[in-house]
Amino acid sequence: MSVSRRDFIATGASTAAAIAAGASPAVALPSPAAGLRSARPASRPLVIASTNGLRGVKLAYDQIVAGADTLDAIIAGVNLVELDPDDQSVGLGGLPNEEGVVQLDASVMHGPTRRAGAVGCLEDIATPSLVAKAVMDYTDHIMLVGADARRFAINMGFKTQDLLTEKTRQDWLRWKARLNRRDAWLDHDDDVRIKFTTGTINMNAVNAAGDVSSCTTTSGMAWKVPGRVGDSPIIGAGQYCDNTVGAAGSTGRGEANIKVCGAFLAVEFMRNGMSPEQALLTVIERVIAMTESRLLDPKGRPYFDLNFYAMTKDGRYAGASAYEGSDFAVCDEKGARVEPCAFLYPGSQRPVAAPAER
Ligand code: ASP
Repeated sequence: MSVSRRDFIATGASTAAAIAAGASPAVALPSPAAGLRSARPASRPLVIASTNGLRGVKLAYDQIVAGADTLDAIIAGVNLVELDPDDQSVGLGGLPNEEGVVQLDASVMHGPTRRAGAVGCLEDIATPSLVAKAVMDYTDHIMLVGADARRFAINMGFKTQDLLTEKTRQDWLRWKARLNRRDAWLDHDDDVRIKFTTGTINMNAVNAAGDVSSCTTTSGMAWKVPGRVGDSPIIGAGQYCDNTVGAAGSTGRGEANIKVCGAFLAVEFMRNGMSPEQALLTVIERVIAMTESRLLDPKGRPYFDLNFYAMTKDGRYAGASAYEGSDFAVCDEKGARVEPCAFLYPGSQRPVAAPAER
């Protein structure tokens, strides 16, 4: 079903009212608590990303305006972050698994040709997004993992390198030292808390002709069990695009997203007429409904973060999060900027689980 122009210019208030009145084809949102943002005007070309993609959305937008393919442009955008040793959530300098090994996940989807590619648990190659695209371009498959994905990349001409930077190695050792007071590792003198445990970049683009692409790349959850694959390389979870509807993607706790196929679900909600914002908030509500009780506080709110980003083929877009305070990156004819995400729980901080509940 196509989305009418009238739907595009619905205001946030009327959107909220429509949801409250049960106009949504999915479950009702927890209105009036939901932090719906007022509708943004549709615009093409358009690139959106997680906040760490602020530089990347500008690069991708400029390339699309210059005539580049949307997927090539967003991969160039995420490459900036993958190759940045100071970004500890992606590629080079990404935080490692519990054994100190950086294992990367990525996936891509190209709307016009309806093709996809992905890699999971890839070691020693800084740009898994490009390896995912090589899987898409050069094989009859969609996903390669582990040592065989690495071998494939080397055969395709990618260069190997040590992805663990001195900073991430130090962070890993600090994390290890603090695991258990009775272990044989002494704490460091500096009491630096290792807070950063998740991070990823998702980027989606539509060009002036309405062709859409999506990409997500990550070093995954820090300190993960070796071999763990998150949502990022899973088509339909970490990202999804359908050239007749739009695209969506996610960052945050992959385990929560995988169970609802969040990016696919968001695109399906938009296909059925929801705005990007409605779609994302409804996906987050579904995530919470599918969450085991050990990860929910007594009020039923999740202890984890999960952000979603979505755009329609027509150039409407949103970011959404369970808790107020998140934002995301956008670039259109008005330039690159950060905008606030919609949210389910106003004014509330993400609850912290008691140690026994973690
Ligand atoms: N979604 C990523 C994963 O679960 C991590 C993140 O975005 O923080 O691997």
